[in-house]
Order: sequence, then C-alpha cells, then structure tokens
Amino acid sequence: TASVLVLSACGGGREGTAAGGEEAAGFAEDAVIGVSLPWLGTQNWKEAETLFTEQLTQAGFEPLVQAADNKVTQQQQQIEAMIERGAEVIVVGPVDGTQLGSVLERAADAGIAVIGYDRLIENTEAVDGVVQFGSIRTGELQGQSLLDGLAARAGEPPYSIELFGGGPADPNAPNFFEGAMSVLQPKIDDGTLVVGSGQTDFTQAATPDWDNAKAQARMDSLLSGFYSGSEVDGVLSPNDGIARAILTSAQQAGQPLPVVTGLDAENESIVSIWKDEQWSTVAKPTTDLVGKTVELIQALQAGEEMPDADEMVDNGKTDVNVYQLDPVVVTKENAQEVFADDEARLALLK
Ligand code: BGC
Repeated sequence: TASVLVLSACGGGREGTAAGGEEAAGFAEDAVIGVSLPWLGTQNWKEAETLFTEQLTQAGFEPLVQAADNKVTQQQQQIEAMIERGAEVIVVGPVDGTQLGSVLERAADAGIAVIGYDRLIENTEAVDGVVQFGSIRTGELQGQSLLDGLAARAGEPPYSIELFGGGPADPNAPNFFEGAMSVLQPKIDDGTLVVGSGQTDFTQAATPDWDNAKAQARMDSLLSGFYSGSEVDGVLSPNDGIARAILTSAQQAGQPLPVVTGLDAENESIVSIWKDEQWSTVAKPTTDLVGKTVELIQALQAGEEMPDADEMVDNGKTDVNVYQLDPVVVTKENAQEVFADDEARLALLK
C-alpha cells in the first residue's frame, strides 16, 4: 500500500527530520490507521466505531476499525492483521489490559505507534500513550452521586446498599470501584451505609465481561438472599447497562426502585433518568475521546512527538502517558444543561 512505500522512503522514523532540516512527515497523509475495540456491547463502543470511521476518513486516513467480541484471541488476531496491512498507528481498547503485550511489541518493532483508547494497556512498554476519562475520578463521581441520591430520595440514614463492579479484565473496572469506595467506605465505617450482603470486595462485586444478564442474576440473588421483607435503598452500578439490569431485577422482585448510579449516558438510561427511575449516569462523551485520539494521530502524522500527557500512569511495566478527560455526573436536574450541545441526547429529555 502507499503507506508502506512512504514509510520505507522516509526510513520509518516517526520523529525524524528531513535532510534539509525541515520537519519530516511521520508517515503518509493517507496512511492506514487500525482501531481495535473490545466489543460493541455498550453504546460508547458503537459510537466509537462510527466516529473513528468518520473522523479518520475526514482527516484523510484509511481507517481499519474492528471490534473483538470480548475475546482476547480475536483481538490479538485483528491487531496482527492490522500490522500486516501496514497500519502506521494502532488504537486499542483492550478486552483484557494485560493480554496484548507480545502482539503490541511486534507492532512497536515494526515502527507502529500504539495508542490506548478508553482503557489502559498494561504490562508492556509497547504503548505510546492512552486517551481516557480519569477512571478513578469516574468512580469517585459514582460514589458521591450514590450518596447524593440517597439523601435526596431515601429519607434519613442509615441506608442499605449493594455494590456492583464491571468486568475484571477491563483495567477501568477496578479503578471505577476503587474511586467509588474511596467515597463510600468512610460512610460504611461510620454506619451511614450498610451493605446488606456484606459483599464489599471488588472480586465479589465484579460483573464478568460487563454482562448485564450476569449482573441481573446477581441482583436477583442478593434480593432473595438478603432483602426478603426489607428494602435496598441504593446500588452502586459501574455503567448504564448494569444499572438498568439492577432496576429490572428490583422491579421483578416487587421492590421499590433503589437509587442506582451509571456510566456512559446511554440513550436508554437518559430516558430512564428523565422518568425518575435510574438516579444518575456519568457522561464521558465518545466524541471527545475520539477527537482527542485523532488529534494525537495527526500530530504523529506531521512528524511531531507525542505531546506531554496530563498524567503518567504505571502500567506494571512502565510509566505511560495518559491524556485525561473530565467525566461529568448527570441527573435529571442538570441533564438539559449537560446535553445542551448534544442534539440526539437532548431530544430524549421530554
Ligand atoms: C468503558 C465504559 C463501558 C464499559 C463496558 C469501560 O471500559 O469505559 O464506558 O461501559 O467498558 O463496555
């Protein structure tokens, strides 16, 4: 392909300068850019698939966007194929943060830049930067929003709550939980919150594969095991799909709807929040995340180095540049304001 020819013509150096002292282009303007997403099971990843295709095309690149159905080997094979195709940059939202070391090292050896998208890439040096919303911060917002919701809806403390985490292979999931627990644990310790089941460890709360059905099944058994004859006031949920599964479970058990948090500002959850069912979500707009990633790719294309990151994060092997965006809590009260520039979401508020 053209990108391979140009790559060899300029020696493959992303940061080189041309003989005349001018800044050399990092790679061809129409280079192949690989994007490997973990799955398309939640709205944010579907949006990412569409937006990467649109924005990379608009920037003149040839996008190769794929999703891995939550399977590690499928993702490894897709990345392998992107290397074969002569991609100049590979953007990766890993299924499992720790399982891509060897394939990404092959990419790095081939002179390909690797950018982590939304999730950290762990245990490898073969990562040039990560673009994400602060994952600990996201969890803190979820924890605080649960407290605010309980105060607004559930009368006086103590409040009975349950805790849910995301898929344990996703490096975000333990961070979301840790951030939330940094807010909730002191309130558990002082008796404001009571976790009816006693299940307060991430391993107990996690939802394998971010599978809504598994979360719903766990909520069913929590309700039948610990809440026959009593009510659960609130539930920490790591994302919107799991939030709706928890609400469905409560409804089917004949329980009043608990205060439930979320993440992603999915359409269905915005509708649910507007109807006073789900309490809150956390918005981390995919447009911003994709926009920031494409900006980095364009800088690399122009021969620039990766800009300074907002934070260095230890990925188990090395410190990684992490470009952090700010997540925002959304409740019924501020939804119109938060989505003022998002026509599609704004349209759901009625
Ligand atoms: C993303 C969330 C998403 C979850 C499940 C996480 O890594 O940050 O936006 O809900 O994966 O797909």
